[in-house]
Amino acid sequence: MLDARATTCTHDVVIVGGGMVGASLALALAPLGLRLLVIEAFEPGSGDQPSFDERTTALGNGSRQVFEALGLWQKLLPESAPIRRIHVSDAGRFGFARLEAEEFGQSALGYVVPNRVIGREVWAALRGCAGVEVCLPARATHIALGEAAARVTFEHDGATREVVAPLVVAADGAQSLVRAAAGIAATREDYDQTAIIAPVRTDARDDGTAYERFTSAGPMAVLPLRVSGAGNWRAMVWAARPDDARALMALDDAAFLARWQEAFGWRAGRAQQVGRRVAYPLALVRAGEGIATRAVLLGNASQSLHPVAGQGFNLGLRDAAALAELLADAARGGGDIGAPALLTAYAAQRAQDRDGVVQFTDRLVRGFSDARSGRAALRNLGLLAFDLLPPAKRALSRISFGFGGSSPRLTRGLPL
Ligand SMILES: Cc1cc2nc3c(=O)[nH]c(=O)nc-3n(C[C@H](O)[C@H](O)[C@H](O)COP(=O)(O)OP(=O)(O)OC[C@H]3O[C@@H](n4cnc5c(N)ncnc54)[C@H](O)[C@@H]3O)c2cc1C
Repeated sequence: MLDARATTCTHDVVIVGGGMVGASLALALAPLGLRLLVIEAFEPGSGDQPSFDERTTALGNGSRQVFEALGLWQKLLPESAPIRRIHVSDAGRFGFARLEAEEFGQSALGYVVPNRVIGREVWAALRGCAGVEVCLPARATHIALGEAAARVTFEHDGATREVVAPLVVAADGAQSLVRAAAGIAATREDYDQTAIIAPVRTDARDDGTAYERFTSAGPMAVLPLRVSGAGNWRAMVWAARPDDARALMALDDAAFLARWQEAFGWRAGRAQQVGRRVAYPLALVRAGEGIATRAVLLGNASQSLHPVAGQGFNLGLRDAAALAELLADAARGGGDIGAPALLTAYAAQRAQDRDGVVQFTDRLVRGFSDARSGRAALRNLGLLAFDLLPPAKRALSRISFGFGGSSPRLTRGLPL
């Protein structure tokens, strides 16, 4: 264990980054009796925390089942808004598609939860776990990967410390230090879009519809949102070209709402109020490999996606669930937690889902951002066909449970 006087210590797993994915992984691993250390740069409730921030996350049913298995779902539920149906449309065109939860025999296709609520509950649960040691605020500054162990140097409480472990998990986001230290190259493709997120209040009651609207300037989502107190609030994500986004951010609230209403239409009622707007430049960042000697990449450190289909965290949580299962089996068998064979098995298990989600999301952005009329007509046909063909709808349900490979126990709601 870490000792204030010691500079070197030994753990079984070191997780660098205690954001959405890293903290969820730590909670999943907590009951296994492993010596676990989480190094996170920001307090979960602080204004600077980049993961548990102003955003909301649309959790698919697979993610809900993970949180159920971790004993967290009942805590999240009171502040979650169910998605009863999804309505997809193309601005100025006749085609649209609907997905109804009922058609899948489900009460909801997913749930929209504020990131701050997820952070508050995951971290409250983590702090109560005896086996999990937390260093925060603390920043990893150097990683050395050897055949037998990883060595992580970090700054905490004004001191430089070092920890040695058979496995280091990179959950440190799209600019991952661990990924760079492992020598894993990442490609970055800018979408030339910036997402503006904000809560919007309208005069129409929330009936559980999530709207996805594609415009030539980028996609826009309007999602159910549960806010305590009065009013019909919705979570808005508007991906616009960077110049347009800058202009939209500079508008006062009334002018912004007028522009939003013009672009989105009246399906969610008349806009009355907008909350704090925050902008996120969008890019596809993808690591060449998901593993290295004594290191594994999770979540944004492995792939950072456009939010159009609400898949980034859902995919990262499935990564965490799969890794937790392999580590649980290794721990029970007394095996090497960071053995090359274990990491290779992990990478093989996750490849299909990861590739499927990355390609699906990327094609959606590029296909629907193309204003050429032939493409637009095809999109209309596509949306109509999608609305008429049950197999196409069933295919979309994969976005809740993944694009293939074996389903980790946690995503089926089962304990490790
Ligand atoms: C506008 C927007 C909307 C989105 N909506 C959805 C959605 O509806 N559904 C969905 O599934 N996904 C969504 N996503 C994607 C989702 O937000 C990401 O997939 C998720 O944040 C990834 O979490 P992460 O923990 O891997 O990385 P991050 O969120 O980037 O967290 C990384 C963590 O590591 C810490 N850290 C970094 N470097 C260090 C260091 N050196 N030392 C210590 N700590 C460090 C950071 O402080 C941070 O806490 C959305 C993304 C955007 C931009």
